[in-house]
Amino acid sequence: MAIKDYAKKMIEQDPVIREIADKKETLWINNRYLPFEMTDALCQLIVTDDDISDAARRLAKFAPYIRKCFPETEPTGGLIESPLAKISNMQAELINTCNAAIPGQLFLKMDSHLAIAGSVKARGGIYEVLKHAEDLALAEGMITEDDNYERFADDDMKEFFGRYTVQVGSTGNLGLSIGIMSAFLGFKVKVHMSADAKQWKKDMLRSKGVDVIEYADDYSKAVAEGRRMSDEDPMSYFVDDEYSVPLFLGYAVAAERLKGQLEDEGITVDADHPLIVYVPAGVGGAPGGVCYGLKRLFKDNVHVFFTEPTMVPSVLLGFASDRYNEVNVADFGLSGMSEADGLACASPSGFVTRIDRNLVSGDFTISDGKLYDFMRMLKKTEDILIEPSSCAAFIGPVNLMQKEQGLRYLSEQGLDETKLANSTQICWATGGRLVPDEIWDKYMNTYIEE
Ligand SMILES: *Cc1c(COP(=O)(O)O)cnc(C)c1O
Repeated sequence: MAIKDYAKKMIEQDPVIREIADKKETLWINNRYLPFEMTDALCQLIVTDDDISDAARRLAKFAPYIRKCFPETEPTGGLIESPLAKISNMQAELINTCNAAIPGQLFLKMDSHLAIAGSVKARGGIYEVLKHAEDLALAEGMITEDDNYERFADDDMKEFFGRYTVQVGSTGNLGLSIGIMSAFLGFKVKVHMSADAKQWKKDMLRSKGVDVIEYADDYSKAVAEGRRMSDEDPMSYFVDDEYSVPLFLGYAVAAERLKGQLEDEGITVDADHPLIVYVPAGVGGAPGGVCYGLKRLFKDNVHVFFTEPTMVPSVLLGFASDRYNEVNVADFGLSGMSEADGLACASPSGFVTRIDRNLVSGDFTISDGKLYDFMRMLKKTEDILIEPSSCAAFIGPVNLMQKEQGLRYLSEQGLDETKLANSTQICWATGGRLVPDEIWDKYMNTYIEE
């Protein structure tokens, strides 16, 4: 694979980018990270606090409908929300086996177990589908703002949505989320799947009446083709993972909910009690929205890192090159292939890499083999199963203080030993609940030599 000229220059000038081109695990610290106050005005020109509150309100309005149709959401009153679990055994094991220093308390945000879609995509994806359904129903007079949204379960509503199509391009989990929710509402659904998508995800969607279209190409191609086909059909709506603001808002709502959970745990987040969060990134939408929401609430007291496979660090490169979506990991000689199907996006979202350019603290890369090792470790120590893509999050606490760049960041941010001892670290588990048993067996027995 020929390395592009701009990439060559970056590789020569930056040792971290050289490590990336050498397919090594690394930690990139954001050279344009800014104090929150300096980002506030510009960010709010694009996505405001009101936009996020509006999304939270809309989800609350749909809660009676979700609760009625998906009894698994009964405990959360129809909100699609996941537990925050303290994982001290995993923390101890990581410290032991990886020689890591992990101060503070380690938690797992279990979006792996979110209702309906079993992944973080249940936030953004389902929000966008619900918003689209509401927009159509309001425009055509099927509902009014004051109606109880349980009405969306009525037969005439399903018939109404049956006239419309929803389409999406996906490596798997977004397709599951959009597909399951849209089909449930009554929409016709087409999911354009990239080559990385796992067979069981395609099978599950087909079993729900979703039209799955397969591509031999990568994710960007599946998205481009889906977008084109949808644009040709006036009755079709395309959920655009590379540009979508509604998706982003659905993810951003997570922050407010997490804040409540931290309060319930009696955890303080302030200058002396920092919050450090690690979120696996594919195209950047989910981690980008979560990061945005967290920064708006916790400002400089939260430090958000993304994590990506060594072969597909597209969001990292979109940031580091300042080329945003105009980057492909192939430009750096990387295959873009990974066992982490949820993260295998060769080019990042232009929207997210721009809006989060000054907010993200950094980005870790992780080799595929470790995904499975961490998966087995979490199962052994905490009896929790999350899919390999999700396990990318653990490289954060493991490497933050083992990498020179990480130590420098902590020192520049004034995060001394005392503050770190008081810190809360959260690994964001992004998927897993829908994985079939036979696939778990396969995962548990997968070992990759580095
Ligand atoms: C989609 C996904 C991510 C990352 O989300 P992006 O919006 O693509 O960045 C992380 N983990 C899993 C399991 C996913 O499915």
